[in-house]
Amino acid sequence: MKELTHYIGGEHVKGTSGRFSDVYNPATGEVQAKCPLASTEEFGKAVDIAEKAQPAWGATNPQRRARVLMEFVRLLNRDMDKLAEALSSEHGKTVPDAKGDVQRGLEVVEYCIGAPQLLKGEFTDSAGPGIDMYSMRQPLGVTGGITPFNFPAMIPMWMFAPAIACGNAFILKPSERDPSVPLMLAELMEEAGLPKGILQVVNGDKESVDAMLDHPVVQSIGFVGSTPIAEYIYGRGCSNGKRVQCFGGAKNHMIIMPDADMDQAADALIGSGYGAAGERCMAISVAVPVGDDTADKLIEKLVPRIEKLKVGPYTAGDDVDYGPVVTGEAKKKILGLVEKGIEQGAELVVDGRDFSLQGYEDGFFVGPHLFDKVTPDMDIYTQEIFGPVLSTVRAGSYEEALQLAMDHEYGNGTAIFTRDGDAARDFANRVNVGMIGVNVPIPVPLAYHTFGGWKKSAFGDLNQHGPDAFKFYTRTKTVTARWPSGIKEGGEFNFKAMD
Ligand code: NAD
Repeated sequence: MKELTHYIGGEHVKGTSGRFSDVYNPATGEVQAKCPLASTEEFGKAVDIAEKAQPAWGATNPQRRARVLMEFVRLLNRDMDKLAEALSSEHGKTVPDAKGDVQRGLEVVEYCIGAPQLLKGEFTDSAGPGIDMYSMRQPLGVTGGITPFNFPAMIPMWMFAPAIACGNAFILKPSERDPSVPLMLAELMEEAGLPKGILQVVNGDKESVDAMLDHPVVQSIGFVGSTPIAEYIYGRGCSNGKRVQCFGGAKNHMIIMPDADMDQAADALIGSGYGAAGERCMAISVAVPVGDDTADKLIEKLVPRIEKLKVGPYTAGDDVDYGPVVTGEAKKKILGLVEKGIEQGAELVVDGRDFSLQGYEDGFFVGPHLFDKVTPDMDIYTQEIFGPVLSTVRAGSYEEALQLAMDHEYGNGTAIFTRDGDAARDFANRVNVGMIGVNVPIPVPLAYHTFGGWKKSAFGDLNQHGPDAFKFYTRTKTVTARWPSGIKEGGEFNFKAMD
């Protein structure tokens, strides 16, 4: 059995806590590796190393720091196939999807190459007589991040690229369910020229997360994962005086107006509802057709498309639409919620419960499900399912559809499909959700904008990547400087005035 490591001080280090968790191949259901779960002491060692290494890195000029990231981008492209294979084998997503995971992280690294420009301060000449004022952005010191299983390449890069570009050291605690790619990324950063100890990976569970939350040297924590853990980390991290940003769960609604192009809307729902087995925080999990007519037409378009979906292992090639979910536990939770939906009166239009794949009977595959006539009191509506299950909630009017999205506790992403510019504009302005798509089902902002939800989907006031990341990973210092004026009337320099 392969035993994975931590990456501490530039070395692969074996776990010493004696605690491990299983890493599965979700397609076969077999345990393929053991992931070490760090103790508080092991985490503390990484902090000591980071604390020693950071000052020199923080003092390195931003252009040199950016060059490391530039080389890292080259190495990511060089190793794209290897990274995607490792990612798919532990996560289960298809290879093109795994490459997309690396690519969307890479784009944030590219943005961070602009660090010299992005870190430029502000200067006011002659703020008063002989007084200049300038502000600079300085690194925080040792920073940390905790990431989820569903984007094991992208989300770590969203955190460590800006943190490191800003001159910080960064300790990553990735998901224990797919930890291999984060370890590979740390190795590549060092190959790109990053000094040892600036990026470390400490694998673990709650013990190492708590060690990060309580360690006085750790200045900031980024978290992405489920909402209950986001709330816990935000509360404990803030009360320990750290700067914290936490991004949580989602229940993204797509409003389909009667004038929408129904084929376009149905295609969009297939990709955004079932792609990556629904394990995306920006997946659409609720379709809200406006009017019964629209709903009937939509269901009619969706059913044959869903029936054509190919579910299979990542090794089966590019025509697989989605793979297994990440663990047997995740599969059980999804199927449990499907049963709840039936029990509570939703209409199961496409039933994926009996899905099985020859040769992969023990894999964590879940067939696609479609529910109609879901109501807001049902568990399948209130809870994040994080699986290939799309719920349809029929709305009587546009206002009712808007209100549904507004009243849900999550506010990560949402979309409207319509030909009416006025309706689209009204929706984008009024809905209390962070990322909005107009005829775009998964409106993930590009690297140079920021990414973040509202309501219970995010805690803290700065978003991920884009300009916000450079604010999150730096502190502002403002200097007010007065130099005695040596200029006399008439322009002659008076050296005596300088005494
Ligand atoms: P998770 O909350 O189970 O785990 C996330 C991280 O927290 C992991 O590193 C895990 O080890 C750690 N963790 C788990 N339990 C903990 C505990 N009790 N105490 C301390 N740390 C703990 O999430 P997941 O299942 O890995 O990821 C899926 C979730 O992430 C979904 O809810 C999804 O919506 C969300 N997500 C959100 C975004 C976003 O940007 N809003 C992006 C991706 C995923």
